[in-house]
Amino acid sequence: MVAEKGTISINTENIFPIIKKFLYSDHEIFLRELVSNAVDATQKIKKLSSIGQFEGELGDLKIKVSIDKEAKTITISDKGLGMTADEIKKYINQIAFSGAKEFVEKYKDETDKTQIIGQFGLGFYSAFMVAKEVEIITKSYQDAPAARWFSDGTTEFEISAAEKTERGTDIILHIAEDSEEFLEDSKLEGVLIKYGKFLPVEIEYNDKVINNPNPIWVKSPSELKDEDYIAFYKELYPYSEDPLFWIHLNVDYPFNLTGVLYFPKVKQDFQLNREKIQLYSRQVFITDDVKDIVPEFLQLLHGVIDSPDIPLNVSRSYLQADGNVKRINSHITKKVADKLAELFRDDRKAFEEKWESIGLFVKYGIISDDKFYDRAKDFILLKNTEGECFTIEEYKTKLEANQKDKDGTLVALYANDKDKQDAFISNAKKREFDVLVFDDVLDAHFINALESKNEKFTFKRVDADTFDKLIDKGLKSEVVLSEDEKKKVEEAFKEFAGTNIVQIEALPVDEIPVSIVMPEFMRRYADMSKVNGQGGMFGNMPVMYNLVVNGNHPIISKVAAEGNENGLVKQLYDLALLSQGMLNGNDLTQFIERSVEKLG
Ligand code: ADP
Ligand code: MG
Repeated sequence: MVAEKGTISINTENIFPIIKKFLYSDHEIFLRELVSNAVDATQKIKKLSSIGQFEGELGDLKIKVSIDKEAKTITISDKGLGMTADEIKKYINQIAFSGAKEFVEKYKDETDKTQIIGQFGLGFYSAFMVAKEVEIITKSYQDAPAARWFSDGTTEFEISAAEKTERGTDIILHIAEDSEEFLEDSKLEGVLIKYGKFLPVEIEYNDKVINNPNPIWVKSPSELKDEDYIAFYKELYPYSEDPLFWIHLNVDYPFNLTGVLYFPKVKQDFQLNREKIQLYSRQVFITDDVKDIVPEFLQLLHGVIDSPDIPLNVSRSYLQADGNVKRINSHITKKVADKLAELFRDDRKAFEEKWESIGLFVKYGIISDDKFYDRAKDFILLKNTEGECFTIEEYKTKLEANQKDKDGTLVALYANDKDKQDAFISNAKKREFDVLVFDDVLDAHFINALESKNEKFTFKRVDADTFDKLIDKGLKSEVVLSEDEKKKVEEAFKEFAGTNIVQIEALPVDEIPVSIVMPEFMRRYADMSKVNGQGGMFGNMPVMYNLVVNGNHPIISKVAAEGNENGLVKQLYDLALLSQGMLNGNDLTQFIERSVEKLG
């Protein structure tokens, strides 16, 4: 058989069932589209009136949405500019029909069903996602008879004269059987509030206005007080604690963007995704999935962004490449950094108090956005075990005097569990070393970022094996043990430590006799794979550690003399394990039993 090539022809006769199928997942947005059209028509008549092209009474401009359960209809009525019969033909038939055809052609092979309506001027036709028949009854503000348009979702339509005497448009949807859920009061009200909560024209449903036409983000910051911002926050997220602070966004060029972003109080655990940033376009709710518009780390913020310049009806991949989206992204990042810098400058004490929450954003920002570090470097805070805060520069200056290794690298010490590492912290303090606290989930990554951005600046956990050698404060002397004794001690501990390294160090007499330390790099990778939620190479790796024996401690001299004869070595070894939380199960039980016996 000879191969044959051809084009699949598309029959536009029954376009609407196809559109309906395509948009199935976004069914409810018919209401968003029709109510936005009503808002547009209302804004237009206001405009015409303000420029003197319409001289009649504007009257009550409320938009009304209502259900007729008997007739199974939903009606959206506006007092906007209306349409003449010719305008219906032009705006509803021609544009939309061609748009619908283009739509089907473009998307015949597509699987991406995300909101694609508006792009084709098909907003009005989304009505057919829920209605089997649609009527428009409209009277133009111009001196022309009222008109009625009717379509049953095929490309056939009918235009006739109508009775309507008042200016405006009624859209009547005869709801299809599979969409009757929208005839329920609570369902329709829910959808209406979701999309229309902040529409600029009053929307009436069941005799009450459901929207706030003047949300704060459209006002000028100069006319707003703190209370207004907090009240609006509560309006958005009724059950939340007050936000820490907020940023009012207001850009006209090169793109249009308004909004208010709030910094929430953040708890350590990431229970953050309940309250999301909401994206609006000219006060119409679009989505609370702002993944591609707001930098990832700022998705922890709350609030509202409104921009008519974000292409809302195109696919994800397109959005990411869009120039405006990129600019919006970096604008928001800059604004956030500026705001933080301002807070830091104006009231450092308050900034420090909020650092627990702010720090999470900043750290997340630094980790996920390389450029954010440069914006944030002057207000990143490092907190020590005493609760004192330092900027990076301040801290470097502090280390300069006291915590430098032989080639001039500044060595910062940190604890990630103040209680567990208490012994190490107090040892460090005895040497007049400062210890930072890094105890939140992002800190392992944060430390890496700090190191990679700063030359000759390194971090060691306070129980790491290396810092002691790096920063020699002259506290070390020669070990009092002889070479022979050293060997004996080493062997005695080796029996329990197995393949782990036993190192005998000359530490101050009053420091603990035996402790367990882990190489810094190994612990860090283990911490990071915990954050990433993956076992990974280090996650599954058996823990290797060094057993540090304080050769100058009197008990160790005793070990040199008698070995494990009286269970001394075992007891010391177990104590070291215990202080690292590594003594568990049966070993722990036995340790306790042995200890009790010794007391008796
Ligand atoms: P878009 O709103 O993107 O222009 P639509 O398909 O939603 O596309 O609407 C097409 C056109 O029909 C509108 O631009 C407007 O001219 C007209 N139209 C729709 N609804 C109304 C209405 N309620 N009042 C007046 N004109 C309307
Ligand atoms: Mg529209």
